[in-house]
Amino acid sequence: MKIAIGADHGGFEYKEFLKGAACSLGGAEFVDCGTYGTESCDYADAAVAVAEFVSSGAADAGVLVCRSGIGMSMTANRFQRVRAAIVHDAAAAALTREHNDANVLCIGADKITKEQALEILKAFAGTAPSQDERHVRRRAKLERCGRLSDFSLLAQEDPEVYAAIKAQVVQEDTEINLIASENTSSRAVRTAAGSVLMNKYAEGYPGKRWYSGCLPVDAAEELARKRACELFGAEHANVQPHCGSAANMAVYLAAIKPGDTILALSLDQGGHLSHGSPVNFSGKLYNIVPYTVNRETERIDYDELEAKALEVKPAILLSGASAYPRAFDFKRIREICDKCGAIMMVDMAHIAGLVAGGAHESPVPYADFVTTTTHKTLRGPRGGLVLCKEAWAKKLDSAVFPGMQGGPLENIIAGKAICFKEAMQPEFKEYARQIVANCKAMCAVLQKRGYRIVSGGTDNHLFLVDVKTTKGITGKDAAAALDAAGIVVNKNTIPYDEESPFRTSGIRVGTASVTTRGMKEKECELIGTWIADILDDVTNLETQARVKAAAKELALLFPVP
Ligand SMILES: *Cc1c(COP(=O)(O)O)cnc(C)c1O
Repeated sequence: MKIAIGADHGGFEYKEFLKGAACSLGGAEFVDCGTYGTESCDYADAAVAVAEFVSSGAADAGVLVCRSGIGMSMTANRFQRVRAAIVHDAAAAALTREHNDANVLCIGADKITKEQALEILKAFAGTAPSQDERHVRRRAKLERCGRLSDFSLLAQEDPEVYAAIKAQVVQEDTEINLIASENTSSRAVRTAAGSVLMNKYAEGYPGKRWYSGCLPVDAAEELARKRACELFGAEHANVQPHCGSAANMAVYLAAIKPGDTILALSLDQGGHLSHGSPVNFSGKLYNIVPYTVNRETERIDYDELEAKALEVKPAILLSGASAYPRAFDFKRIREICDKCGAIMMVDMAHIAGLVAGGAHESPVPYADFVTTTTHKTLRGPRGGLVLCKEAWAKKLDSAVFPGMQGGPLENIIAGKAICFKEAMQPEFKEYARQIVANCKAMCAVLQKRGYRIVSGGTDNHLFLVDVKTTKGITGKDAAAALDAAGIVVNKNTIPYDEESPFRTSGIRVGTASVTTRGMKEKECELIGTWIADILDDVTNLETQARVKAAAKELALLFPVP
């Protein structure tokens, strides 16, 4: 057992005595964090050093001694994962290990003798945390209070902003989020995103910056670039785009000229704003030709796409979508690009997490450029990423900076680095597989209840329900009724929709966020039943109230990180 030990001048002698008794503690190894004499010093210094050891996992436990133990414990408890307890008898030491899994022992030298301190430490080191359900549950609650304490500073400094953030915490905790483009990022990602790296200006790229003092952010950005390449098997990565739309803009700037033709999936059939909407820069600067899905199958018909590509001869053939429930055939798209001489660009914003986890074929081996957001199924911070072949690397990098952005958001880039590492873990494969399994399970329930599903099902993390054909209601009304029941989806156009984009005939349902929370097929089938109950009778307030209570109960059983 590795124990970080620290004291101030009042506890110095006790620290030396306890270190000397290591052999009577089963050969515990002590890491001495000071102080090293009886000269007056500040208790926080040793407490911070010990807390850092325990918080990071570099030590199994910590011991802190001052005259009362109080200042030491207060300081240590500021650190995540530290549970410091002031204890003055062996029974209490054993109890706080058993119940609270205390990992830092704080001792007041005024209260007890050195020998008593040793007995307490023996009891502390010799007791394991109880695995009783109630203790495990209470400890989980204790750790999760970080969801509020992370920003509790704002309660005094800016109560209005505090209230807004707290409302989001409560919403995440108590509602079922089925927005297909959203997810729940890890605490590690959120910590990096809120970190001091946001203070740094770093125009340029690692090793070639326009500002001094960039060593720390260079390290973070280099990690992000390397990990992005490793995760997706890409030759080059640019991690600086502020969002997915910016990632797309960077590719257009790098590869084609204003006025050139981009062949992209029509916006009202699942394409994205930045794929050529007339109100977006893409539609204003480039000649956008939309392709459509087949009217019968509601899927991309690759023969039709090929015919169109040969006719239009686009500079870029862009695939990828925001609301397409089926898998893409990237090999076939590459063949089409080769035939018509187009650059192959894939915007995998929605499916990047599935690609990373092996639940959707990767476009990276085929495409010249792959763009993505990092915050959808990939579950990182809100941001963008471009991957490309080495031949395009220089042009791409200068398109991002100085072409379209100034200083990169290095705090977000650090969050991206963490996200890529998380996506390389074996659990992420399981998460990606489960997203799709959950989506199929939820979709099947609605189908069984008579709802028409666009394209007849789903291969990925989302499906589209045609509520207009099935129930004669609009997507807008369906989404509002579900929202009133604590189930969050969005209205969405469906292929060849006759409703306006503000009303729509469909809703889009996605399972990334509920999968992150740990829900499986069983819960997703239950949610599917609730959706059908609500949509069967969108004006029934009783059903909405019943589902809202049940949804909240279910949500609380699957805490978000
Ligand atoms: C979400 C999305 C984007 C970009 O999103 P931002 O909001 O700009 O980050 C780009 N392309 C597709 C296909 C998307 O779904």
